[in-house]
Amino acid sequence: MTRRLVRSIVPITMAGLVTGSAVARGQVPSPPAASATTVVRAARMIDPKSGNVMQNPVIVVRGGRIVSVGANAAPPAGAVVIDLGTLTLMPGLIDAHTHLLQNYRGELGGDDPNMLITVATMSTAKRALLGARLGREDLEAGITAVRDVGNSGFGGDVALRDAINAGWVTGPRIRASTRALSAAGGQFGTIQPETQKLIEQEYVVISSVDEARRAVRQAFYDGADLIKVIVNTGPRVVSLDEMKAIVEEARRVNRTVAAHAIGDTATRIAAEAGVSSIEHAYTVPDDVLRMMAQKGIYLVATDYPADFYVNALGASNLTPEQQKEQMAGATQFAKANGERLMRAVRAGVKVAFGSDEYYDTPGRTRGQASLLTLQSYQEAGMPPLEVLRAATVNAAGLLGWADRIGSLEAGKLADIIAVDGDPLKDVKELQKVKFVMKGGEVVKGKGRRETGEG
Ligand SMILES: [Zn+2]
Repeated sequence: MTRRLVRSIVPITMAGLVTGSAVARGQVPSPPAASATTVVRAARMIDPKSGNVMQNPVIVVRGGRIVSVGANAAPPAGAVVIDLGTLTLMPGLIDAHTHLLQNYRGELGGDDPNMLITVATMSTAKRALLGARLGREDLEAGITAVRDVGNSGFGGDVALRDAINAGWVTGPRIRASTRALSAAGGQFGTIQPETQKLIEQEYVVISSVDEARRAVRQAFYDGADLIKVIVNTGPRVVSLDEMKAIVEEARRVNRTVAAHAIGDTATRIAAEAGVSSIEHAYTVPDDVLRMMAQKGIYLVATDYPADFYVNALGASNLTPEQQKEQMAGATQFAKANGERLMRAVRAGVKVAFGSDEYYDTPGRTRGQASLLTLQSYQEAGMPPLEVLRAATVNAAGLLGWADRIGSLEAGKLADIIAVDGDPLKDVKELQKVKFVMKGGEVVKGKGRRETGEG
């Protein structure tokens, strides 16, 4: 009976998480008393929203939120002052497309074996623990919020989100999608009928409008904040009618739909159905980009510099000739991605940063590798300020959290990072974040501490 009662309370608590209770702000086990005041000050503060740079910013934080932001302001009496000296403050970064419960290994030789081995051999519990590790790596790199868009077993992403919100583990704020909806087979390569039951551990296969509606409702029951749809995998494509039903079901309860779509047919179906974001869109025609701009559909450009594809994805046992071929292919792919990114920008499409980082990347933490995507935007020709916007205000809007993260202003959650150089000149500076605060809690870096005398 007690157990039943506890269960019946859980969804109410989770509704609280989404609407902004203290727990939802991700406070860790010993949060400061509500009255405790922290001040963060530094040499400069970039506001990606306005593009302004403030000299000598003083940010006053209380109860996990920003109380005030002012230049040269005197810290309130008794406040703990974190003086970051010559550093530059910015809002925490937001990755709108990640997979914290998946860690691709290049040596396995591709997506198909990686998917199969992960799903067949790792329990969801184990994957959630992997997610705790990778989430911490994201946060320490300066990524204070993410959308986790599937490939997390049955409910692993929801478990991780809730564990972070409860302060059991330290990680970014998470918007979770639960299992992605897809046409037959999900994103699995061909597997035998006897083993196809594995697919439902990772995807919900829909084959009709009714199934699409049912899957959306089930996802929300399972704790989803948003819906992820794999619109196409090879010749398996979700139909326009199915996509429309998915969007309608999600919209009715003010939730969003993220659509994995590549190529003319799939991006068109996603845009016509009116999804909130199109993920990847490595190939996408101009008229679909125009439709995206018109409808306010974000492009989540999951791009990387060419050498990433070789280092992270490449099998290690290639001949020099094969390596050369692989690098040429990666260079071509990165160049084409950059061109489509700039076509989208010119068409007026809003871009939100999404790394699609699910790789075990040699020499880099998950967070550090994810931020290489920002470098690829810059290399494609996007001005640094626009890159910062993609990773802050734009992504916050896509997450449905424009009112709480993405900028540093009174009333927002105190998700603050600091860097050494000037990211308005070179966004690669974001690969070396020195200080991270999430919800008023310092996660990384110290600064010089003193007590404000008012
Ligand atoms: Zn992805």
